[in-house]
Amino acid sequence: MIAVSHNEIRGSYLPYLSDESKLSGDAEMLYFPEHPEELSAILCELFLTDKTATMQGSRTGVAGGCVPFGGTVVNMEKLRSIEINAKTESGLLLKIGPGASLAEMTAYLKKNGADYFLPVNPTEDTASIGGMIATNASGSRSFSYGPIRKYIRGLKVYIPAFGELSIRRSEMNIKKGVIRIGSRRSHAFESWDFPDIKNNAGPYYKTDMDLIDLFIGSEGIFGTLLEADLLCVRRPRHELILMAFFHNRHDALNFLETLRRSPRMPSEIEYFDENSLSLAREDLDKLPAYPFEGAHAIMTVFLYEKETEIENIYEMLEKSLSASGGSIDDTWTPGNETESTRFRIFRHIVPEAVNRRIAAIKTDEPAVHKVASDTAVPVNLLVPALNEYDKALSESGLEHCIFGHIGDAHLHINMLPRNIKELETAKDTLRKIMQTAKEMGGTISGEHGIGKIKKEYLASFYGSEIIARMRAIKHFFDPHALLNPGDVFDR
Ligand SMILES: Cc1cc2nc3c(=O)[nH]c(=O)nc-3n(C[C@H](O)[C@H](O)[C@H](O)COP(=O)(O)OP(=O)(O)OC[C@H]3O[C@@H](n4cnc5c(N)ncnc54)[C@H](O)[C@@H]3O)c2cc1C
Repeated sequence: MIAVSHNEIRGSYLPYLSDESKLSGDAEMLYFPEHPEELSAILCELFLTDKTATMQGSRTGVAGGCVPFGGTVVNMEKLRSIEINAKTESGLLLKIGPGASLAEMTAYLKKNGADYFLPVNPTEDTASIGGMIATNASGSRSFSYGPIRKYIRGLKVYIPAFGELSIRRSEMNIKKGVIRIGSRRSHAFESWDFPDIKNNAGPYYKTDMDLIDLFIGSEGIFGTLLEADLLCVRRPRHELILMAFFHNRHDALNFLETLRRSPRMPSEIEYFDENSLSLAREDLDKLPAYPFEGAHAIMTVFLYEKETEIENIYEMLEKSLSASGGSIDDTWTPGNETESTRFRIFRHIVPEAVNRRIAAIKTDEPAVHKVASDTAVPVNLLVPALNEYDKALSESGLEHCIFGHIGDAHLHINMLPRNIKELETAKDTLRKIMQTAKEMGGTISGEHGIGKIKKEYLASFYGSEIIARMRAIKHFFDPHALLNPGDVFDR
């Protein structure tokens, strides 16, 4: 095992003190276990000696969850094993280490199971599988395929109060709020309302549920993920990706509606507003020019089995476009695989362009950071929610852009404050956006989780009584609050 001391961390290991939220922390020790047994052994030693530890995957998280605030960091990057465990009717079951990245898993499948894929696509393919499970990652395909939770068949976890535990889906259940582990039995934990939409605000808990689901999306606060059995499903043979441009958002939303109503549903529907497109323009050397100024765009992807289906899809698209004020002439359709890949990259270019802009502002104003929403609302309330978001943004006067998973009514509103005064305005605006989502039966986090930077918002979203219920479950698994201290809620 590689062990790095505090001085060395402050020297060559500084990146391990932050994540993509750009929140930065400190740690006394940083460990890189090289075998699963080493991971269990170090966790056992840390918890027996009452030392706190923060788990870390690839640090692509945007909520500061893996950023240590003191204590030890345990990084999973050396635990990258991938092997086929079984082939079943439902798909190919992989046994996978927590540090393996999504890109590595995709490359492994290309070589060893090209007919299969993990449909979860958080666009950031350096993300680790452990981090993805801890945050119940979803992304652009969740609209039709759901988040990673759906694909977890088994987990090996290390729990401070119980040590190592293997959990297979459907084999250990929480009944009437009571959790049983070995001979230990909890008292009955009370539940709370969990909006029935894409949601990652706090742990997923119901009084009757599969125990495995409690660990998925819990942001590592109940246990450390040592290994996962991941179901990869059959990949449809063909893919059509296209990007349709519209003169205004109203038309883009009309197109969204026709896609939703169409009998041939796409697997992804992503939106980019005018400001997102203009931010991404810097990278346009990789892509054709936009068809006109001030465009709004919808990127959509169809996965299909038979080559002959393409004609029906095109016919449906032409009708939908002309019914909603768009046109096939104002739509990018790739001519080959390389162009398809460039389109995919486009999805990633926008958040990266935002991060670059913020990094430039930070050179003069180091305390400034991006303020971004991850709110989602029920799909039938998307338009009223957008109207409220617009109102708050225009009152703020801040530079901003809106993009993301519009198929799930889940948009990332990114605000780019230029100084401390604007940062405070951005935070107030985010509160208003979250309040809108709450009032509409939505969530303050559709996918990124709470980590350290959104716990204040979680506390006001749920109130102290519900947070106390979450804390009670945490106490059962981690009575001394040693695991991921400072994440999700204060102990
Ligand atoms: C440009 C960009 C786009 C993104 N788009 C999306 C998107 O579309 N959808 C989406 O869902 N996410 C998205 N993300 C967020 C991020 O990629 C995901 O949250 C990802 O799942 C985090 O994985 P990671 O390995 O980087 O985890 P980290 O950032 O290292 O950690 C995240 C959390 O998981 C915990 N954790 C990590 N490993 C373990 C473990 N083995 N056991 C227990 N806890 C652990 C950490 O303690 C932390 O709380 C995006 C990020 C970026 C930068």
